[in-house]
Amino acid sequence: MAKIRCKCGTILRDDDPHDSFFMLSHEEFDVDVSPELLLGRALLVVRCPVCERLWFWHEGGKLTEYVKGEDILPPDA
Ligand SMILES: [Zn+2]
Repeated sequence: MAKIRCKCGTILRDDDPHDSFFMLSHEEFDVDVSPELLLGRALLVVRCPVCERLWFWHEGGKLTEYVKGEDILPPDA
């Protein structure tokens, strides 16, 4: 388990049961592959429950931050 401090000051954990996610592209996802291999392919994403930033956790511990923009309705709404 690893922790980081979000820019808003909230402590985030990479194993948070509600705010950590495994992200796979369609290309990486394969129903015939074992769950362990899928997890190995996945990118870990952690959401800050306070400011809703997303932190993408890359191999080696490098982090990329994505900040929530304004809510926008789809064009056909
Ligand atoms: Zn935050």
